Amino acid sequence: MQSATALQTDNFVPLEAILCTEELQRRPSRPPDYATENRALVALAQALAESPETILQKLADTILEIFQVHSAGLSLLTQDGTRFYWPAIAGAWKPHIGGGTQRDFGPCGDVLDRNAPLLFKRFERRYPYLLEAAPAAEEALLLPFYVHGKAVGTIWAMAHDHRRQFDAEDLRQMESLGRFASAAYQAVHLQDSRRAALNLMEDAVLSRQMVEKLNRESRESERRFRQMIDALPVAIYTTDAEGRLTHFNPAAVELSGRVPELGTDRWCVTCQLYHPDGTPMPHEECPMAIALKEDRAAHGMEAIAERPDGKRIWFEPYPTPLHDADGRLSGGINMLVDITERKRSEDQLRSLNQDLQHFVYAASHDLQQPLRMVTSYTQLLARRYKGKIDERAESYIAFAVEGAQRMETLLRDLRDYWSLNKETEREPVPTDCNEVLEEALSVLALPTQETGGSVTHDPLPTVTAERITLTMLFQNLVGNALKYGRPDQPPRIHVSAERSGRDWIFSVRDNGIGIEPEYLKEIFAPFKRLHGSEPGGSGLGLAICKKVVDRYGGKIWAESEYGRGAAFRFTIPA
Ligand code: ADP
Repeated sequence: MQSATALQTDNFVPLEAILCTEELQRRPSRPPDYATENRALVALAQALAESPETILQKLADTILEIFQVHSAGLSLLTQDGTRFYWPAIAGAWKPHIGGGTQRDFGPCGDVLDRNAPLLFKRFERRYPYLLEAAPAAEEALLLPFYVHGKAVGTIWAMAHDHRRQFDAEDLRQMESLGRFASAAYQAVHLQDSRRAALNLMEDAVLSRQMVEKLNRESRESERRFRQMIDALPVAIYTTDAEGRLTHFNPAAVELSGRVPELGTDRWCVTCQLYHPDGTPMPHEECPMAIALKEDRAAHGMEAIAERPDGKRIWFEPYPTPLHDADGRLSGGINMLVDITERKRSEDQLRSLNQDLQHFVYAASHDLQQPLRMVTSYTQLLARRYKGKIDERAESYIAFAVEGAQRMETLLRDLRDYWSLNKETEREPVPTDCNEVLEEALSVLALPTQETGGSVTHDPLPTVTAERITLTMLFQNLVGNALKYGRPDQPPRIHVSAERSGRDWIFSVRDNGIGIEPEYLKEIFAPFKRLHGSEPGGSGLGLAICKKVVDRYGGKIWAESEYGRGAAFRFTIPA
């Protein structure tokens, strides 16, 4: 080390330029890690008992290890108070043991002057003689080291590259280690050994009180944790690494139907377990056993538990392994959510749905045959007796025919609507929409002719879909456009498609009566009709369209200015 006089101070960067102590409090910090700190204290206490003369080196080694820094060490003032020397260093700076800095022109002196911890950033910018102590210190955290309340040196940790940045928790832990180390140092090195022993005892008492306080705090937090668990309305239990129960809450007792035995009973051993398909689940394969065996949280499973009283419960387990401070598996915690009610209502819903499906099937198929008979016989009546019966009788027959036809439409639409459920889904195939539209138009030939309507279209794309459902879609939209035309002009309908990102947007535009804005959304609901008593509608057409589009993950909507036509648009993924 070159000697440097106080005069040099003026020629180098100011002290403030190499300090970033305040930033320490602003940096994001780790949460307090008492477990690591306690381990370090115990290691130091052991070193003190076994080889007091190396206690300072042990301190340097411990700092290096637990703070994961590149260098760590101690600086102590020389007898004459002019310099600091380095009695113990660990890490990259270890070769500099025995070196030191000047009292009045160096980082250790700054710490003593301010009597406070300081964080330095590349301090050789101000103290160039430290350039000799390679590698350079990117950041160095220095704390005063006290003996009998007097600062006689510093303890320090260094990072030699910018990736290791110190935070408030580093400072807290270093202060704690520093307190212990100074007590140890006094015990070992001071002349007045009796006094030192007394001091050490005092400090040991203090440390013990501190440890007890920590223990109390951890017991308290454990107590609060358990209180919280006990108050939760879901079954929760904890186990050791072998799966033996260490805690369970009242909800767990209620779910399993028995008070388990702590320390003996293992996981869900109280109950006989089954897989959702009804096959027995051996206890060694229960979700908690797997979580402990494979050391992983296992979620998204369902199982059935048969309690000692024979009651069966569906549950969803959430087993999670727990680890100690070293990352070793120390046990597990499991939460069992009772899903019996949900399963029951799902079952009910399923069977209700099936009933409804059967009913609709019966209505739409079985009723069709007798209805066809009613239709054909009333038509026959109308033909046979035309002119032979009075006008009133003829109009009665006409009403009957019309009613039967409406009912037929309704049944057909109902069947179409209910046919669009999950079970009927088939593999979609490339489908040419030009062909599909032609097909729909051929079905609509009669109403087109009757209304004098005309349908034009741009070239349409090929999409991946089920042909039959697309036909339904076009048939309903074009059919509506023909049906809801204006009385003063024949329907003009245009079908087009444009690409928008990953979708095709189709549009069926007409020049009909249009839709009032407040109804634009409602009309897609089943049985929603607007214009009152138009003939030939079931109120299901647009609901069918929506179901078809939903099936492909698309959207359907209507745009219209009332009285000026409507456009129905829908998207199909390209
Ligand atoms: P409906 O069997 O009554 O046609 P839809 O579900 O097909 O049933 O249509 C619902 C309602 O939406 C119709 O009653 C009608 O009032 C309105 N609507 C549907 N398409 C059009 C259209 N192109 N122009 C004007 N109104 C329409």
